[in-house]
Order: sequence, then C-alpha cells, then structure tokens
Amino acid sequence: MKTILVTGGTGFLGSNLCIRLINEGNRVICVDNNYTGRMSNIEAIKNHPNFKFILHDIVNPLTIDEHLDQIYNTACPASPPAYQGKAAIQTTKTCVFGAINMLELAKKHGATILQTSTSEVYGEPLVHPQVESYRGNVNPNGIRACYDEGKRCAESLFFDYWREEGVDIKVIRIFNTYGPNMDPKDGRVVSNFICQALRGDDITIYGDGSQTRSFCYVDDLIEAMIRMMNSPKGFTGPVNTGNPGEFTIRELAEKVVAKIGGNSKIVYKDLPKDDPTQRRPDITLAKTKLNWEPKIALDEGLDKTISYFAKEINLRSKVA
Ligand code: UDP
Repeated sequence: MKTILVTGGTGFLGSNLCIRLINEGNRVICVDNNYTGRMSNIEAIKNHPNFKFILHDIVNPLTIDEHLDQIYNTACPASPPAYQGKAAIQTTKTCVFGAINMLELAKKHGATILQTSTSEVYGEPLVHPQVESYRGNVNPNGIRACYDEGKRCAESLFFDYWREEGVDIKVIRIFNTYGPNMDPKDGRVVSNFICQALRGDDITIYGDGSQTRSFCYVDDLIEAMIRMMNSPKGFTGPVNTGNPGEFTIRELAEKVVAKIGGNSKIVYKDLPKDDPTQRRPDITLAKTKLNWEPKIALDEGLDKTISYFAKEINLRSKVA
C-alpha cells in the first residue's frame, strides 16, 4: 500500500484521482482549500479508513508526519472565469508557491511528485498539433497570464528541483478535460453547454465558434496520470496528455443540443481576450513511453457527462 498526497483533491481532477487511488487500495491524503473544490466530490470516500482530508492552502508550507510515497499536485483553479478577475494573484501564488512547497515536501519524504501542467503553456500556438518541444506563444501580462505563466514557472521549478535537488519529478501537460465532478458553475465550455441545454437556456458560444479544442474524458486522463507517476525513475516528461480528436466549439454546441434536445438556441457572445484559436495534442510521446492513448470518444464521454450533470442540477435545485 502506498501513501499518496493529492493536492486539489476535492477538485474535478483531484477527486476523480482520489477515488481511483482509494479503490486501488492506497492510503490517500487529500489537501484542498476548497476555493473551487467541493466536499461533495469526495462524499463517496470521505469516511473510508484509508482516506484523510486536510483543509489547507498549498500557498503555505505543509508538514505531513506519515511517510509519503507519491504526491500529485493538481491544485489550481483551471477554469478561465475562476482564475481571472479576483483570483488572478492567488492563482499565480498557487502555481508558484504551491509548487515550491510541494517540491520541498517531496524532497523531505523522498517522494515522487507529479505536476499537472497544462496545454496553456503553449498559449496561442503557432505549431499545430502541439508537440512537447514547442516552446509556446504566451502573452506574459494578459488576463490568462496568471495561469499560463504560473504553470510555466511551476514547470521551471520542477525541473530545477530535479537538476539541483535530485527530486523525482514527473510533468504532464493536460489538454481540455471534462466529465463527472465538474462544477456546474465551473464556467468551462463543456459544463456550460450541457447545463445550459439541460436548463433550456441559451447556449453561449464565445466568438464565432470556429476556435478548436480537443476534449479528453476524465477517466482516460486519470489513467495517463497514474501511468506517468509510475513510469521509470528519470523519465520526467513533459508529456502531453489529451484526446487528439479536435472539434470546433460550434460543433460541440451542436452535438450537445442534438443529444439533449429542448428549446435552447445558440447565441454568440464576445470572445474573451487571448482565447487560443486552436489546440490539439500530439500524443506520440505518451503512446510510446506510457503505452497510453484515450479510449473514450467525445460522443460516449458526453453521454456520461450529461447523465452526471442531469443528476447534479436536479440535486442542487432540490437542495436550494
Ligand atoms: N467557450 C464558449 N462558451 C462558453 C465557455 C467557453 O464558447 O460558455 C469557449 C471559450 O471561449 C474557448 C473554448 O470554449 O474558446 C474553451 O473554453 P474553456 O473555458 O472550456 O477552456 P480553455 O479556454 O481554457 O481551453
């Protein structure tokens, strides 16, 4: 049995990871400040004897008495509406101070530490699809910079702790991911479109909807995280993890409307500043080194996600 710390453990990715790790017989310590994480995401495991929740902000150092084997650093608001505006400075602090604090913890425990970096390190990509060797095209002071540059700085810290301190690091770059345990209020495109269609509200496309994204179902992504964490020592990445199926945002809206039906109509709103026009991972490295590729196509993943949100929204309106 391994003892595994998951930061951001009540969030979308973190909670899915905690559930999988508990089900596989590990001891899991879940750390979150619950800024975007939700205790309801860990309802099924919160009383499990191998599970412990600690309310803590990783911007501050963390001491853990028991020995840690592995640390997954998933803590950070990931939705543009959640990290822009009032939480921008906090987002940079989470990325940078959080990385330092967790790397120090990994060093003390001799633990392997995995960083959930992001496709946002590529910014508005001039290379398509994106390969890991592409250095990106990021606006250093725009409204997305807190997240993009925060995550870039975190990558730099991870590699410096590996080179200078010998910490066993793993870095993955996650592309757009969706699925159960997303917050209906999250603000990202899959949750917005599904919740809008379920409620019969207008579907809000930002810009003309010609921008593209590649959507990975969460179970596929969690599998990639676990494979990366347990890959041979010295294999640091960064490794792109995402589903190479590429769709325009208009195609996504049409798919969601076709699946859910109802009276929602598509409306067009302003495109947020610095919104990338295209994104698709080249996953050759993940295929070769981790023997991983996504198995769940968008149609199947959307069906599962629609069922989740239908329950979630219903539950919420009953509670309200
Ligand atoms: N988007 C949209 N309508 C929404 C939410 C997002 O058209 O209600 C667009 C957004 O402008 C972007 C794409 O969908 O072009 C993906 O946005 P998301 O916030 O999900 O992720 P990210 O921009 O971080 O890839």
